[in-house]
Amino acid sequence: MEHLSVAAAQQCVLESVAAFGAEQVKLEQSLGRVLAEEVRANRDQPPYDISAMDGYALRSADLAGVPATLEIIEDIKAGDMPTKTLAPGQCARIMTGAPMPQGADAVIRVEDTEALADNRVQINLAVKPGNDIRRLGENMRNGEVVLAPGTAITPGVIGVLATVKRAQVQVYRRPRVAILSTGNELEGLDEPVDPNKIPNSNSYALMAQVQALGIEPALLGIARDDPDELARYLRRGLEYDVLLVSGGTSVGVHDYVRPTIEALGAQMLFWRVAMKPGHPVAFGKVGEKIIFGLPGNPVSSMVCFEEFVVPALRRMMGHARTHRRTLSARMTHNVKHQPGRTEFIRVLLAKEQGGYTATSTGAQGSGMLLSMARADGLAVVPADSAGLAAGSTVAVQLLDGTVFQDDAGFRE
Ligand code: AMP
Ligand code: MG
Repeated sequence: MEHLSVAAAQQCVLESVAAFGAEQVKLEQSLGRVLAEEVRANRDQPPYDISAMDGYALRSADLAGVPATLEIIEDIKAGDMPTKTLAPGQCARIMTGAPMPQGADAVIRVEDTEALADNRVQINLAVKPGNDIRRLGENMRNGEVVLAPGTAITPGVIGVLATVKRAQVQVYRRPRVAILSTGNELEGLDEPVDPNKIPNSNSYALMAQVQALGIEPALLGIARDDPDELARYLRRGLEYDVLLVSGGTSVGVHDYVRPTIEALGAQMLFWRVAMKPGHPVAFGKVGEKIIFGLPGNPVSSMVCFEEFVVPALRRMMGHARTHRRTLSARMTHNVKHQPGRTEFIRVLLAKEQGGYTATSTGAQGSGMLLSMARADGLAVVPADSAGLAAGSTVAVQLLDGTVFQDDAGFRE
């Protein structure tokens, strides 16, 4: 099973993982988690017709000729219940959120009135029945489903949960993720600079990609390119739900990651994908644990994370939306492309009339991490494309932000 398309590899990943079980958390701790239950309204909201304005509750029929003078019979503040019924020629002073009195069918805002002596008010504008009233249940009806499982808990969702009085909510458990870098040439962040070594950046870029999804990963350090040492580290990594291994997945004689994972009983589901960068990416399972073998090249590692690890982790976290949000943009320059692999170009986005433009962040080598650091997104050049002319439309996957969608949003 070699050279899968990106879409087929994403499908394989998504079919291999499922949402974790649920746990209960306090509402105050639920931001960024994913709802694991259906939530229903516990009452009608608003619970009665209320005023949408500070003004006067009145009978719209009394305003046939304006200006009209009405008698104020009551003062209804938010939190009060009205005690009187309006007769013709009468109104009640009412505050935003206060219940409408019997007999009233409209509200007029205070700006369209003038206070007179002796509890009277002059109304300067005619209004229709229903004006500036928030109707009983217009927000939500008692028993109505307001939030579905799989909903990401945002500030707005927390507002809804508080409205329906959910001090505790059921959310999906988060997978535990470990990150292991491999390679004799790697120099740890805390080691002195050695001109012959390569700084281990992948552990930290991957760490941040995992953190950005709301999971705190464990960093297992650097394993040398030695089958025994690698096996020891991999066994530790398999104590976690998800193991990300950086480097050593290619076909070099010292690329021991795949054979070592297989020797530990992993079922390899794929190990090459028709993409650029990121070709030598491996994916396997050991029981319910999943392992990604990510290419060592820093850009490849991050792009493979975006394409495969993001959907996997989001599905395990219970999110309904598993993929990065894409938007359409107009390339500002030509893009060379040999048909065969889906290519991900690091681009900057700029707003233009009616949409966005996408411009390469510069040299696109798979080791050029600055091209990634500067990018707003990944422009997707379909596998079968023979190149893009300036002005053509591409799908751009956003690299930043908290907005996701159901599907990949681009074609191969
Ligand atoms: P590999 O996939 O192990 O063949 O590595 C491919 C390239 O990525 C080599 O140039 C490595 O030095 C580099 N590389 C591997 N692992 C890392 C890492 N953790 N951080 C930065 N570069 C790496
Ligand atoms: Mg290596």
